[in-house]
Amino acid sequence: SRDFRVVVLGSAGVGKSALVQRWVRGNFREAYLPTIEDTYRQALGCSHKAGALHITDTTGGRRYRGLQRLAIARGHAFILVYSVTKKQTLEELKPLYELIRQLKGNNPQKCPIILVGNKCDESHREVSEKEGAAYASEWNCAFLETSAKMNINVQELFQMLINFEKKPATAA
Ligand code: GDP
Ligand code: MG
Repeated sequence: SRDFRVVVLGSAGVGKSALVQRWVRGNFREAYLPTIEDTYRQALGCSHKAGALHITDTTGGRRYRGLQRLAIARGHAFILVYSVTKKQTLEELKPLYELIRQLKGNNPQKCPIILVGNKCDESHREVSEKEGAAYASEWNCAFLETSAKMNINVQELFQMLINFEKKPATAA
C-alpha cells in the first residue's frame, strides 16, 4: 500500500502524545494520560493517491517492549522524543535508537529518524540545544526542538516526515 507508518518513541512523560495531539487535533492538555498504544491516520494530499500517514504513539513502559518492537519492525520513519528538562530521557533513547538500527538496517535514507527535544518552552533545562544536536549528528539523524504546549516546531516536525514520504526510499 501507499501508507507511510511513523512511530513515536521515547520515555514516559516526554510529550509524545502531546505532540501527536497537537498536530492531529490542534490542542494541548496539561493532564497526563498514560498511553499504551494509539494510532492515528491522516490522509495525505491527493498527489499521494490513496495513501495515508499512520502515526503510532507508543508507550515507554518496559512491560510493552514486545509492542514497541513490533511497531518498530512495521515502521517507515521514527520520531525519538526526549524532554529537554530531563537528561535521563535523552540517554534512554539510546537502546531504542540501537533497536531501530538493528531491525531496520543502517541506511538513514531508507529509514529516517528525527530526534526531538520536546518542552523547549520550559526555562528549567537539563539538555541544551547544542547537546541534543550533538546526539543527532552522532546518530546521523535530523534534529528539532519542539513544544507541544506552545506549538513550536510541531508543524515543521510532521512536515519533515511528509517530505520523507514524498521521496522514494531508493533515491539515496
Ligand atoms: P508521553 O508519556 O510521552 O505521551 O507524554 P504526554 O504527552 O502524556 O505528556 C506528559 C506531560 O508533559 C503532560 O503533563 C503534558 O501536559 C506535558 N507536556 C507535554 N508536552 C509539553 C511541552 O511541550 N511543554 C511542557 N511544558 N509540557 C509538556
Ligand atoms: Mg503518551
